[in-house]
Amino acid sequence: MLLKDRVAVITGAGSGIGQGIALRFAHEGAKLALVDIRPAALEETASKVKDSGADFETYTGDVSITADVESFFSQTVERFGRVDICVNNAGIGNPPMPLMSMTDEGFDQTIAVNLRGVFLCMRAAAQRMVAQGGGGRIISVSSQAGKTGYPMLGPYCATKAGVILLTQTMGKELGPQKITVNCVCPGTIDTPLLRGTLDPILQATGETFEKWALKNMPTIPLGRVGYPADVAKVITFLASDEADYMTGQAINITGGQEMH
Ligand code: NAP
Repeated sequence: MLLKDRVAVITGAGSGIGQGIALRFAHEGAKLALVDIRPAALEETASKVKDSGADFETYTGDVSITADVESFFSQTVERFGRVDICVNNAGIGNPPMPLMSMTDEGFDQTIAVNLRGVFLCMRAAAQRMVAQGGGGRIISVSSQAGKTGYPMLGPYCATKAGVILLTQTMGKELGPQKITVNCVCPGTIDTPLLRGTLDPILQATGETFEKWALKNMPTIPLGRVGYPADVAKVITFLASDEADYMTGQAINITGGQEMH
């Protein structure tokens, strides 16, 4: 077990990649604080994690609200005694439109969840890890869209690029405390978020998700879309002792779709 008895906070744990991380961490022996804005989604993940016998707690909260973040981190420390791993996974897409038509609200909401939310959780985790001593792991979910711009995804791309630079900065700041700070940049991962983002396109073209995926295969050298488990295994590695000489990195998990 790579994460035996490590205490991990996972945001956005109710769905998609976050649920995949929760299941993999449970399998690796971690104790879990599962956070999501949607209680029903958390319930679904909780029922799956229960089967593994892992020790876990669920917290409903919004990562963009400071009081919520402070509350779920404090409750985690009260419940489990410490926090060893923080996975900043919660994120949203932006309303799909070109930047020249983007609304103020669409821009601000994406920044609030994807960038401010990651900052708030990084800060809350770092303060507790430094206070308790013994190092730690902070891992955020950026995107290949944080390395390359994509039409209609302006605010999303900007936030994900921001996550990479927050990661580098905090990695430099916390190295002396043996807290590593890394992020992953997934590509095309089959989750409710991806399907929701594609919905307007699929409705306009009449294509199914499966047909769209096949059409896009030539851009993915490994020839398939990714799944939450593909992302979860890399995050498990980054959270483990195996990655103790890595910090400030932004690792692609894209089947080769993005290589820089
Ligand atoms: P998902 O299936 O929508 O799961 C994200 C979860 O986070 C949802 O349960 C969502 O609730 C929750 N959430 C949203 N806003 C929140 C907030 N303010 N506070 C707490 N929880 C919140 O999405 P996913 O595809 O697994 O994405 C997870 C992460 O991977 C995101 O950061 C995303 O940008 C990133 N990513 C995804 C892909 C991909 O292809 N899927 C590629 C690259 C990067 P709601 O359902 O209510 O929104």
